[in-house]
Amino acid sequence: MAIGVKFFKKDQKMNKYDIIIAGAGPGGLTAAVELSKKFKILIIERRKPGTTSSTWYSYADRVKKYDIEEAVVARFDRIRFTSPTQEHDMMDEAVTLDHNKVLQIWLERAKANGAEVRQETFRDYAYKEDGVVVKTSEGEYFARLLIDAMGSGSPIVEKHNLIKRHDAWVIWGGMIEHKKHEKPYVLEYYPLNDKDNTYVGLHPHSGTITNIYVFQGRSNTMGNPAELKDIFEKTIKELEPEGKKIQNLGGTIVSGSLKKYALDNVIFFGASGMLNPDGCGMGFNEILKQYQVFAKGVAKAMKKNRLDQKTLSKIAQSLRNQETMNFQKIIGAFSLYFIKSKGKWDGGVKWLNAMGEDSKYWMRNEFTMDWIMRANLRLHKVIPITETVSMIPMDNLAFVLEQLARFSVKAATSVVKNKMKK
Ligand SMILES: Cc1cc2nc3c(=O)[nH]c(=O)nc-3n(C[C@H](O)[C@H](O)[C@H](O)COP(=O)(O)OP(=O)(O)OC[C@H]3O[C@@H](n4cnc5c(N)ncnc54)[C@H](O)[C@@H]3O)c2cc1C
Repeated sequence: MAIGVKFFKKDQKMNKYDIIIAGAGPGGLTAAVELSKKFKILIIERRKPGTTSSTWYSYADRVKKYDIEEAVVARFDRIRFTSPTQEHDMMDEAVTLDHNKVLQIWLERAKANGAEVRQETFRDYAYKEDGVVVKTSEGEYFARLLIDAMGSGSPIVEKHNLIKRHDAWVIWGGMIEHKKHEKPYVLEYYPLNDKDNTYVGLHPHSGTITNIYVFQGRSNTMGNPAELKDIFEKTIKELEPEGKKIQNLGGTIVSGSLKKYALDNVIFFGASGMLNPDGCGMGFNEILKQYQVFAKGVAKAMKKNRLDQKTLSKIAQSLRNQETMNFQKIIGAFSLYFIKSKGKWDGGVKWLNAMGEDSKYWMRNEFTMDWIMRANLRLHKVIPITETVSMIPMDNLAFVLEQLARFSVKAATSVVKNKMKK
């Protein structure tokens, strides 16, 4: 079914590609690195390719596995989460990355495989023969497949009104050059304890450079990062009065669900396809985990020439483990409560403490069923059941209750099974 508009001129000569990737963020470039090994690729990016206003932390094992260790700028043995009455050290081999360098590495690898990169703005697409014509600020190009990796503000998602449900972390900040501290910053998240539940994120790069940003969780809105500018300026005045901003940082991390994860000849990847785990926002890390699986699925569909919506949707859905998605959705629902509640995150950090060293799997989005059950039981241990019931948002009531009942039955069954084994 053709959804795009017909805007191209009939016999216009245009460059042809196997795949056009719109957006050169982590989603677009990882897909480009893999798919350019086999296909003729065009990457379209509206800003200077190889630059971004996001900032990422990841994990030592993950950056090694996915071959971007050379972009690591700092290593930590923990990530610190603080709330008004709680503190949790999430024990993990964490790293912060030079975000622009990560993109430049991927860009060079994709180019070395023959990918073409154009600094142009995607405008629209239309169906033609066995593919799509993509219209940019500069011209028109044909490809059999369009990968939409334009992030949370994807014009395709917006045009087709594909968002079913979403929550947003709205972020504003900067890469700050500051004096060397006796006690260097750690990789940390802590609240400002204001009425809007604003949090501060610190991603240290070196003794004298730190990515510092403020962020707020909001439900059912994309939010406007610029609204946080004043809070950030005030925070930075207190934290680093003589600090110098080297680069702006900011954006919106959206999580939730779409009505469709692909259209005919179009597939979403990364933030445009809401790959971020609900309520967690680890979109970069999720892309790292998933891009090879994604590219493998796309390559198979290209070879079989099966680029219909159903086939492409299956590829997009295969990146989502249903148990994990369900669990993150529950935690997402609760964390919205934590954000809005008087306790401001206390409950969340209490839960992390109750999880102990197991807590890291939450941020890593690496779950087993056993872990999910323990996480549920421990949540009820630190937050009274009456209170957890009151946290359940009414629009998710049936889903959350169903999941909790399912986990409880599974937990009870496994206890009985273990007893019988003994
Ligand atoms: C300040 C900040 C801190 C973060 N911290 C972490 C973290 O620690 N760990 C983590 O895992 N995640 C983190 N995230 C989230 C992470 O950055 C995103 O999930 C990730 O960048 C999503 O990648 P993407 O490629 O899908 O989208 P994006 O990174 O948004 O890239 C989309 C690209 O498409 C381009 N584009 C958009 N529209 C058009 C158009 N019309 N034409 C052409 N190009 C277009 C954009 O310019 C951009 O380059 C953070 C985000 C921010 C903002």
